Amino acid sequence: MPFQQLGLAPQVIQAVKDAGYTEPTPIQTAAIPVILQRHDLMGIAQTGTGKTAAFVLPLLSLMASTPPQHRGIRGLIMVPTRELVVQVEENIRTYARHLPLRVATIFGGVSERPQIRALQQGADLIVATPGRLLDVIRGREPSLRSLEFLVLDEADRMLDMGFIHPIRQIVRLLPRQRLTLLFSATLSREIEQLSREFMHQPKMVEIGRRSNPAETVTQYLYEISHHAKMALLSHLLKNEDLKTVLVFSRTKHGADRIARRLESARISCATLHANRSQNQRLRALHDFKHGRVRVLVATDIAARGIDVEGISHVINYDFPRHPEDYVHRIGRTGRAQAVGEAISFLAPDDHSHLRTLERFLRRGILRRKVEGFSEPANTAAPRDSSAPPPAPYRPRRDTMPWRLRRSWKNKRRFPRHDHSS
Ligand code: AMP
Repeated sequence: MPFQQLGLAPQVIQAVKDAGYTEPTPIQTAAIPVILQRHDLMGIAQTGTGKTAAFVLPLLSLMASTPPQHRGIRGLIMVPTRELVVQVEENIRTYARHLPLRVATIFGGVSERPQIRALQQGADLIVATPGRLLDVIRGREPSLRSLEFLVLDEADRMLDMGFIHPIRQIVRLLPRQRLTLLFSATLSREIEQLSREFMHQPKMVEIGRRSNPAETVTQYLYEISHHAKMALLSHLLKNEDLKTVLVFSRTKHGADRIARRLESARISCATLHANRSQNQRLRALHDFKHGRVRVLVATDIAARGIDVEGISHVINYDFPRHPEDYVHRIGRTGRAQAVGEAISFLAPDDHSHLRTLERFLRRGILRRKVEGFSEPANTAAPRDSSAPPPAPYRPRRDTMPWRLRRSWKNKRRFPRHDHSS
């Protein structure tokens, strides 16, 4: 179905054309008509599916077709991270280019003053992280009384990051009569609870199986000793097909260490983690997006929701501890119509995490051997010679039936527009 048939405002359709999109993605086809009818909506979709446009396009259309009832903020979009604020704002500016809308952003780590000024000058739409928004809005609560549209994006991440209290406090300030949209990569009991609390008979749109990473990503792994990981990474990066590479480290210090080693091998790279200032993080993302650095080394939290077009490879330098992290990490590549590769390094003590992951994904991950690479000898002193050696890996048949693993019984509580693939 072309964009023209979804009922969007002409200015929005024009902006979508300018952006070069030819047809809506499945979540856009499913969600846009529901939102345009002013139904509360719960969208289960990962980043990379076009979900931002799925809520921004109809919201802009509704704002364009109905004049504001009162002065004040009309729409609020809450997201978990500062990077995501910037990204959603960029999306809005792209799609609202033919509309006279004022957008303001509110997030921590930078001075409050310009954000307060932007609010005072009046904004139609705000994109914010919950904690800072609550700080900034104190004493200015009336500015939220005319709110018509509320979006909670990446709601599962916001819960993981402990934002439930500021979110509740903010929602208490909003009029009951409003349109509420909630997007989450996963459907958990907490998310359902949130939907019951904040929404009125929401319709549900679900895209893809919740544990199903983008189908366009080729996934494989290399078994490797801890001490040889850096050598393997350098070896892989000799291949110029690895053009834009996102490397995941479990820790901030680990990320810095990897970056130092890459720099000394003259491989351009930047880091993205919580110890870096807001400006450093934005700069790192900007440089990576614009091809000034080839490798971005990130931790899980910092990389949440980042949207960089054309990431060719994701490398799990440290194997993810949680299956959800794996899905989020590899969702950074193969976005929209692009094809990507996800490579994981599997150290001897990661095998139990791999088993959990493979059960979660309901598929195995291909093991590959690296051509032309042999592990260097371990010359480093043992870290702790008194520690017991890691348990040897024994392949084991999983005896738990699938249907017992996870309870899906709550899934049918919502009227469903199922576009599962
Ligand atoms: P998101 O899931 O919102 O993070 O979007 C992922 C990427 O898909 C972004 O870079 C968007 O610019 C892009 N995108 C969104 N909608 C479309 C579309 N209909 N056609 C092609 N690309 C799109």
